[in-house]
Amino acid sequence: MNQQTDLAIHGGAKTVTRTFPWPVFDESEVQAVMSIVQSGAWGNPDCKGEVEAFEKDFAAYCGTRYAVSCVNGSVSLRLALIACGVRPGDEVIVPPYTFIATASTVIEANCVPVFVDIDPATYNISPEAIEAAITERTRAIIPVHFAGQACDMDRIMEIARRHNLRVIEDAAHAHGAEYKGRKLGTIGDVGSFSFQSSKNLNSGEGGIIVTNDEPLYQMMASLRNVGRMEGGQWYDHYNPGCNYRITQLQAVLLSHQLKRLDEQTRTRNQNGLYLNELLGTIDGITPLERGFGETLHAYHLYIFKYDKAKFGGVPKDEFVAMLAAEGVPCFKGYPHPLYRQPLFQQKNFMCYAIPDSVDYTGVFCPVAERACSEEAVWILQPAMLGTREDMESFAQAIIKIQKAVCPVPSPTTL
Ligand SMILES: *Cc1c(COP(=O)(O)O)cnc(C)c1O
Repeated sequence: MNQQTDLAIHGGAKTVTRTFPWPVFDESEVQAVMSIVQSGAWGNPDCKGEVEAFEKDFAAYCGTRYAVSCVNGSVSLRLALIACGVRPGDEVIVPPYTFIATASTVIEANCVPVFVDIDPATYNISPEAIEAAITERTRAIIPVHFAGQACDMDRIMEIARRHNLRVIEDAAHAHGAEYKGRKLGTIGDVGSFSFQSSKNLNSGEGGIIVTNDEPLYQMMASLRNVGRMEGGQWYDHYNPGCNYRITQLQAVLLSHQLKRLDEQTRTRNQNGLYLNELLGTIDGITPLERGFGETLHAYHLYIFKYDKAKFGGVPKDEFVAMLAAEGVPCFKGYPHPLYRQPLFQQKNFMCYAIPDSVDYTGVFCPVAERACSEEAVWILQPAMLGTREDMESFAQAIIKIQKAVCPVPSPTTL
């Protein structure tokens, strides 16, 4: 029997035969959307009705006083930055191992993203690296709760308070996740979430910002609604906002999806803990460590580190292709840390007020580099809603690949 040809990528049988549906919905979502369609009130220019109802639900769910919905989780970051009072040329500290929006919205706010490395155990932004990067121009930090895992928020908040910096949590992966019993997104000045279709809470597109700070809330609500102010006239515009409103169709969908979030988050968290146990025993596979103080992980991604030395030298991208062929919903992740994107290397900053002295060609964050090129393998969140047996089958798929690429010598050759 040739174990290489047993691999699904070479035509063998798949280890995982089921699929993992996303989004999860039933007749209640269909009815809710249909009733909005029939009402004719598809939009909501006043941000009242279903939009306000969802904002109240989400704020209550998170435990914040305010929530402002908007078109996506990128605009939410930019509105948060502007409301926080950043000025052109201010520096904003961001991790390089995240989606482009965490850094490109800093450019769109006329500020300078300063990339600092991630922690090798958790892949979240390193507090030491944040502290080392602070200058007199630094105005804000955007910690990303990457994959749904809490950043070291006590330390980040302590650093921010000491240097008088604003903290905008990018919680696009972290709906429902908790740090020391508090929901992520509620610890900094502002928390930003995305409702894009891949995210753990979704309405196709959408975003929301939560805060306890009344002036920040008023400004973000105004920027979201064409610069209007509460109580002002329809054609009175006070701030440089645009129409970033969501529709009632999105709002009712989100209200129903929100009811499923707690149970889904608990399932993903349980499955993540179980996968940690299973994969932790495979030589050459290291699950990310769970950070201190984290009580609930959203597992928007389940990430493990791959060591090709224990897999016959098979490069990460080939291993991921083999694992995907076995039926495990997985991905190799970002090809490079963000600062390597042409946007930064070529300084394609167009009309934005980025100082000429800014130069990304020398930036190098070794941990993020290694994560991208060699180590990080992502299992996608719909798969984390599976059963314990599904988690076992993911581990079996990895073991099958390892056996195929590094065959154990047969007894006769020993
Ligand atoms: C998805 C995502 C965003 C942006 O969300 P959109 O709704 O797609 O604009 C921001 N940050 C991170 C880390 C994300 O993964």
